[in-house]
Amino acid sequence: MTLSVTEVFTCECKPGFNWKNKNTFKMHKASIRHKTYEKSIQEKTNRININKLQIQLNRLELENSRLRELFLNSAKENMILKKKLNL
Ligand SMILES: [Zn+2]
Repeated sequence: MTLSVTEVFTCECKPGFNWKNKNTFKMHKASIRHKTYEKSIQEKTNRININKLQIQLNRLELENSRLRELFLNSAKENMILKKKLNL
């Protein structure tokens, strides 16, 4: 039995297609079609990251708002106690 290894050149931007050799594959990688695909993937990734960051920002703003409210309530209580104690 003999085993042989064959290199297969495929790309996600053109599913099901195999480039014949390393050179034609390299040319494909430099093509407008492939560059456009890479750009669209990057843009999609960027949009996802922006969404994740926006969600984190919203959470932090909500937490900040709650903490501010707690602080203000504590400050009010302190003032009331100081008045009661004539401080
Ligand atoms: Zn490609």
